[in-house]
Amino acid sequence: MQDIKSYTITELSTYITSLGEPAFRAKQLYQWMHGKCVASLDDMTNIPKALKEKLRGGSDADAPEPVDITAIIPVDIRESRDGTRKYLFKLPDGALIESVLMRYKYGNTVCVSSQVGCRMGCRFCASTMDGLTRNLTPAEMLDQIYRITNDIKERISHVVVMGMGEPMDNYDTLITFLQILTSEEGYNLSRRSITVSTCGLTERIREFADAGTGVTLAISLHAPNDEIRKTMMPIAERYSIAEITEAAKYYFDKTGRRITYEYALARDVNDSDKCVLELADLCKRTGAHVNLIPVNPVTGRGYAPTADDGVRAFKNKLEKQGINVTIRRELGQDIDGACGQLRKRYLGDKV
Ligand code: SAH
Repeated sequence: MQDIKSYTITELSTYITSLGEPAFRAKQLYQWMHGKCVASLDDMTNIPKALKEKLRGGSDADAPEPVDITAIIPVDIRESRDGTRKYLFKLPDGALIESVLMRYKYGNTVCVSSQVGCRMGCRFCASTMDGLTRNLTPAEMLDQIYRITNDIKERISHVVVMGMGEPMDNYDTLITFLQILTSEEGYNLSRRSITVSTCGLTERIREFADAGTGVTLAISLHAPNDEIRKTMMPIAERYSIAEITEAAKYYFDKTGRRITYEYALARDVNDSDKCVLELADLCKRTGAHVNLIPVNPVTGRGYAPTADDGVRAFKNKLEKQGINVTIRRELGQDIDGACGQLRKRYLGDKV
């Protein structure tokens, strides 16, 4: 199968002209898939029937390989009291991923998954418990946004790659995904409205800075020193906080985009006054701001969230140090809104 929804406009033009078709057909197909978000060739009204048949693959031996315009299928949608919608999508091979729609005053944000499972092993996270099954394709990442757009009949204004998986561990796909998502003939989403979150693969962060995507980078720091970080995130054995801060600085210097450090507050793990001071120091060095979230308790993980007043106190103390801090609103708590929990429950129910 030719996965043409994963092709950039240039790749699609090359492919379409190789079939002996005019290049403008590539643009039309691309606009249908990425601009109008249709899920099937049938819906593309200005594409001639003969071309559709050719694309589907004829019966003769010389026929080109049939195309696939991957459409993922929602198998469960839950809406929370706060308007958050959580989607469980089935991929063509039956694998399951989650995406979340969050409604803010400034628009609709979709949280996108980048892999089925994850191999980073963070000890507080539900998505990594069974390891990595496979990478998503660009089309499978894009389709999370397209299916949700069609479902709510509203445009998505912001995208965060903070769902299941480590986007920098599926790097080439991430780059293609961003290229297609921001293309003028496609969904045409502004680079400024996209955030990619990583647990801190430093070589990739530098490569990403050089690639010039211009998106916001969030780094899951979660601890202000290596000693604590190693207890929470196995990846901390490979990359020290010093290396991460250097890479973060490189990203900032190269792109002018301020880094966000994500910090999941876990009671008696990373919420002490000493942590505040250490974290403030790291932020000052990189000009980063902090996004705090009380850790979401995941069954079998053993982390308890810092209480609300503790979270507010942590925020105030950081602010006293001159650091910019936001507290991530915990949306969709009543619908297993957090971090791979809907999928986990669904898979659990099936066994
Ligand atoms: N792999 C990427 C993105 C996926 S997770 C990363 O590590 O950044 C998106 C964010 O949710 C990360 O900051 C991750 O550490 C955090 N997260 C995962 N499980 C969590 C939990 N149980 N409670 C709070 N935050 C969690």
